[in-house]
Amino acid sequence: MIRILLLTAGTLWAQSRDVQIAQRVDAMRATLVETRRDFHMYPELSNREQRTGRVIAEKLRKLGFDEVRTNVARNGVVGVLKGAKPGPVVAWRSDMDGLPVNETLDVPYRSRNQGVKHACGHDVHMAVALGIAELLAGMRQELAGTVKIIFQPAEEGPPEGEEGGAPLMVKEGVLDNPRPQAIFGLHAGAMGAVGTVGYASGPAMASGDEFTLTIRGKKSHAAWPHQGVDSVTIASECVLALQSIRSRRIDPLQPMVLTIGTIHGGERHNILAESVQMRGTMRTFNEGVRENVRTMMRQTLDGCTAAHGANYDLRWGAFSYPPLINEPAMATWSAAVLARVLGKEKVHATAPVMGSEDFSYYLKEVPGFFYWLHGGNEARGITHGNHTAEFDMDEDSLAVGVKTGAALLLDALARRP
Ligand SMILES: [Zn+2]
Ligand SMILES: [Zn+2]
Repeated sequence: MIRILLLTAGTLWAQSRDVQIAQRVDAMRATLVETRRDFHMYPELSNREQRTGRVIAEKLRKLGFDEVRTNVARNGVVGVLKGAKPGPVVAWRSDMDGLPVNETLDVPYRSRNQGVKHACGHDVHMAVALGIAELLAGMRQELAGTVKIIFQPAEEGPPEGEEGGAPLMVKEGVLDNPRPQAIFGLHAGAMGAVGTVGYASGPAMASGDEFTLTIRGKKSHAAWPHQGVDSVTIASECVLALQSIRSRRIDPLQPMVLTIGTIHGGERHNILAESVQMRGTMRTFNEGVRENVRTMMRQTLDGCTAAHGANYDLRWGAFSYPPLINEPAMATWSAAVLARVLGKEKVHATAPVMGSEDFSYYLKEVPGFFYWLHGGNEARGITHGNHTAEFDMDEDSLAVGVKTGAALLLDALARRP
């Protein structure tokens, strides 16, 4: 009985706090929009987020954060805010980078950096994270514990030959001193209606492993094929043989995608190509399947090339993300917080997607939760997918992000998730 009374009192207290937060966030609308538009106008590519990092650090300092670490994993920024009361440590993560996409939107805040655009909504992520930072900095007297706001570069993958993104952040100690007990983050998208959020319990996003495959044969005149080793014919067989890993060798109930995205080889119509180079990606939700497919690809390529006297080279690239798994108990806890803040009908359980996100690296280290912030608005034509030239978000989603994010952090401080 006492437990029930305490729980009810706790919920009532949280609800009245949600109302206060909602009022403060609604008053922040103009600032949120301005911040988002500034980032949108000056997008920077992965590992080149210098201006973005400077703007963030300056804002966090102005808000009175106790510590503002800069140049983490190149251009990353970490702000630490200590509440007036003792308590645990929780973290929020936003990414920072734009994409090599030409903006086609005709809006006042269109990209000023030719050929670069925030086409994945990371501008929205940063505005939301700074909104949460501002809100919580204003509540420091009531805050029982420490909040760490993490701004991470190169989520889209570092340029060839460079390290970056979440693995480098973790390597440089972003989760230490102090170590958060829980970490939260969200991703923007315009497929769902603004005002709503979505989440998947369990596997939410796939692993992503990029590879380069080179088939090596031997040049000869095209009229004397028996004097060479035709890497084009062999590559064709390899592409099809690799597809039978999906269809014949992996449990049909385990999602897995193996895609060859590019293929290049040969110099002339009448010369046998000496080599063919292909690039592709492999995605799944299961670490065991991920490992098995790597082995099976080798087996297939060993056989396929040996049969024709060719050889090959298979290299896995820097773009290598583990699957993003929302641990079910944590997802249930978090979804209840989201439903309390937005109303049950605004929170949708969604199917997992084959896209990947390097937030999964943090989830391998500490418990956490990652969800979708919807910013679609059909009436205004805001319906385009991430990474497209037309991508945009309804800016009413900014307040939704701040309200839900702040509630998750405050609830996690008050009650161990
Ligand atoms: Zn993206
Ligand atoms: Zn993204």
